Formats: sequence, structure tokens, C-alpha cells
Amino acid sequence: SCVISPKTIVSDACASYSTLDALNQKVKPAVDALTRETDFFSHYRLNLFNKACPFWNDEDAMCGNQACAVATLDNEEDIPEIWRASELGKLEGPLAKHPGRKLQKERPQRPLQGLLGENVGESCVVEYDDECDERDYCVPEDESATAKGDYVSLVQNPERFTGYTGDSAKMVWDAIYRENCFQKSSFPHSASLGMTSAPKGPAAHDFRAVLQDAGRQQMLEQQFNNQVQASGSAGLEYEDECLEKRVFYRVVSGMHTSISAHICWEFLNQTTGEWQPNLQCYYHRLHTHPERLSNLYFNYALLTRAIAKLGPHIQDYTYCTGDRDQDADTKAKVLAVTQGAASVPEIFDESLMFKNGEGPSLKEDFRNRFRNVSRIMDCVGCDKCRLWGKLQTAGYGTALKVLFEFDNESEEVPVLKRTELVALFNTYSRLSNSMAHVRYFRGLLDGEKKEK
Ligand code: FAD
Repeated sequence: SCVISPKTIVSDACASYSTLDALNQKVKPAVDALTRETDFFSHYRLNLFNKACPFWNDEDAMCGNQACAVATLDNEEDIPEIWRASELGKLEGPLAKHPGRKLQKERPQRPLQGLLGENVGESCVVEYDDECDERDYCVPEDESATAKGDYVSLVQNPERFTGYTGDSAKMVWDAIYRENCFQKSSFPHSASLGMTSAPKGPAAHDFRAVLQDAGRQQMLEQQFNNQVQASGSAGLEYEDECLEKRVFYRVVSGMHTSISAHICWEFLNQTTGEWQPNLQCYYHRLHTHPERLSNLYFNYALLTRAIAKLGPHIQDYTYCTGDRDQDADTKAKVLAVTQGAASVPEIFDESLMFKNGEGPSLKEDFRNRFRNVSRIMDCVGCDKCRLWGKLQTAGYGTALKVLFEFDNESEEVPVLKRTELVALFNTYSRLSNSMAHVRYFRGLLDGEKKEK
């Protein structure tokens, strides 16, 4: 049996890769159509520019600001300006400001023509409900009453190579993995929940702990690699890690894998100026790290389950009041995805988590840590990377909320905000695309092997 539990290593030995690949091939066209062709799911509202990094000082050398982190390509001055990292990381297309409650009341159906595209009505993209729910695994994107965020076209800002690298990117990843260390974090947690202004913190010595812990993660990853290579069987466990911590790590690592897959898929060849798949990039970042690929598939299984579970509850969701045709079209496309996701009924078994003695407190810790990951995203020093980093964190946060905050047996219906729904389905789309890219790269490597 290849039902995926939080313990499972998705591997060829279990045939889960092929099961999940087959599912992805079936559902991907519907996911693509939903996220690319509907106004509702192709625009995301987020607070991209108004939040400072809450964890370290932007002014010091290890900052997340663009000036010190983005322009790090070798010999940058030798390449045309538009290919420079600082340019590649910028957002493209129109950016529409949230119209605000007052303006909405005055002009309820005023179209945002020219801002979100000719045919996108405000009523399709505006929502008022931005209250924080204690069940949220993410900081709502618009927690500040004054800064409602901007609407960004996801289609016009594809996730791909931007040249963002160096100390800033490393600091962010290290800080994210550091959140996996449940009992020892030096970052503020519950104290920082619900805050609207960014505190400056922690002191310099904390960063050494961050880096040490990242070293420990790498060691765990190496152990895991060795285990996978030695046996290839399902059910292996990280030593010294409980189930919930392992799931936390896998979600973050799977997200990292997906981001890397997109970077390698649309990589800028700076000699020719062409965007193209980069096999070396894939080989070094992912192919030689089977557990990273395993975590990508794990995340796909997790999101598939969340979407399947949500499916029956969003059949009556109103996507775009005021435009019946568009509403019906979006609804049909959502249905195609949720039905596809539900076609493999036992894809992920979440019931094992948060059940034992310390379960409830672990769940709260897990949730708070995930919220912290969403805050860390404000430290990403490249606009486009921050956009996709925030969206995906919100997408996983929504999936975790659906899986762990709504009892399968209960009548209670998950009520999700627009931003949560958009994030969830677009994160699913990221994973779906990443799996297709990985298949392509694997095919190339298999071909090379056969030729030899
Ligand atoms: P990194 O990818 O920076 O990895 C750092 C370390 O983490 C590695 O050395 C390894 O030890 C460990 N690691 C790597 N992958 C995994 C994994 N899957 N699981 C567990 N551990 C792992 N760059 C772009 O070009 N485009 C983007 O859209 C983009 N988005 C980003 C979004 C976020 C949130 C962040 C933090 C960075 C983003 N970047 C993006 C930068 C990109 O992720 C890399 O940091 C950068 O390309 C440098 O890569 P690297 O090879 O040094 O290793």
C-alpha cells in the first residue's frame, strides 16, 4: 500500500512517485486552467512592500534588503541591465492598490480597468474579511489596518530565476529551517503574534545559533540521504525527531525544492539571454538529494488531500458576484481540480498527527512556528521571490488549517478567505509544475545514462 503518512518516504520503492505523477498528469490541465485563466485565481493580494523584516536589522550586513543582497551575480556590470539580479527580481505588470472599505462603499462596482486588466471587476478581487483567526497557520496578509496590500498578477510575474542569492537568501533559509527546532528557538514566537509593527531583534549572538542549527539540519539531511540510498523503503524516520517536527521540516524542505525546481526550469542563460531549463542546476540542487525530491512529492500528497477535503465545502462559494458567467466558469474549474484531487481517496493520512499526550500543545507550537515562517518571508530581499515565498507559505498554512483544524467527522465547514483560497490553489499549481519539471529533467538524465 502506498498511502502516504507523515512518516512515509515517498520513493520509487513504494511506487508513490509514479502514483503521484499519474495523478498530477491527470489533474494538472485543470490546475493550469484555474490558475492561469480565471481572474479570481490569477491575482493575489498581499502586503509586499510595507512590512519590515521582523527578525534582523535591515541596516546591518546580514540584511534582507535589495541593495545588499540582490545584486550578487558574478561580473554583474558585464551583463545588460535588464538581466541584472535587481531587475530580474522586480515585479512586472500593473499593481492595483486595495481600494479600501470607504471607497468600496461609495463605488461598489467600479471596475479597476487598466489596473488588473480590462475585464477584471473590483468585485472579483476585493474582500473585507481580514480578521486573524486563531486557527490560522499564517499571518494574514493584511493584518495592518492602514496597509491593505496590492493586487499582483501571478501570471505576469512567473516564479523563475531572479539571481537572488548570497548572504540574504542564506539567512532567510537558515532562519526558516531554524523554526524546525521546536524547543530551542531564539526568535520571538507568541510574543510577536498579532503585532502590527516590526520589532527589531534578535541580538547578533542569536545568529550563530541559527547557523549552528542549519548545520544540524544538514547533518540530519545527510543521514536521511544515506538511509534512503541504503534501503529505499518507506517508513524510515529522522533520528531524534518526532512526527510533527518531521512534518514541519518536510513541508519547508518541499517548498524549497519546488522553488529550486522553478529556478532551474526557467533559468536565465546570461550568455545568450535566453530562458531555458538548466540540467546542471537541477542535478546539483535536487537530483543528488533524493530526500528533497521526496519532500516535494510529500507536499503534493498533503495539498491534494487538503483540496480533496475542502472540495465539497466550496461548491457554493461565490467567486465574483456581479458577473455570472465568470462566476460559473471559475466554479467549474475549481470543481475539476477538487474532483481530480479526490480521485485518489487515501493519498495522505493526517490523522496520525497531534494525537498523543503532548499533541495539542505541539499543534500550537507547530502553528506558531509556521506563522513565524510567514513573517520571515518579509526578510526576502527580492520582490518576485518575496511574492512567491509569501504566497506559498500562505498556501501551506491554508492546507494545514484545512487538515488539522477541521475534524473529518464534524459538520463544521472550513471558511476560507479569498487570499487563502488563491494561495492554496496556486501553491498546488507550483507543486504540480515542479513535479512536471522534475520528470522532464529525470527523463534527460535517464536518456544520458542509456546513451552511455
Ligand atoms: P539554497 O537554495 O539557498 O539553499 C541553502 C541551503 O539549504 C543549501 O546549501 C542546502 O544545505 C539546503 N537546502 C537546499 N535545498 C533544500 C531542500 N529542498 N530541503 C532541505 N534543505 C535544502 N531565487 C530565484 O532565482 N528565484 C526565486 O523565485 C527565488 N525565490 C526565493 C524565495 C525564498 C523564500 C528564498 C529564501 C529564496 C529564494 N530564491 C529565489 C533564492 C534561492 O532559493 C537560493 O537561495 C539561491 O538560488 C542560492 O541557492 P544555493 O544553491 O546557494 O542554495
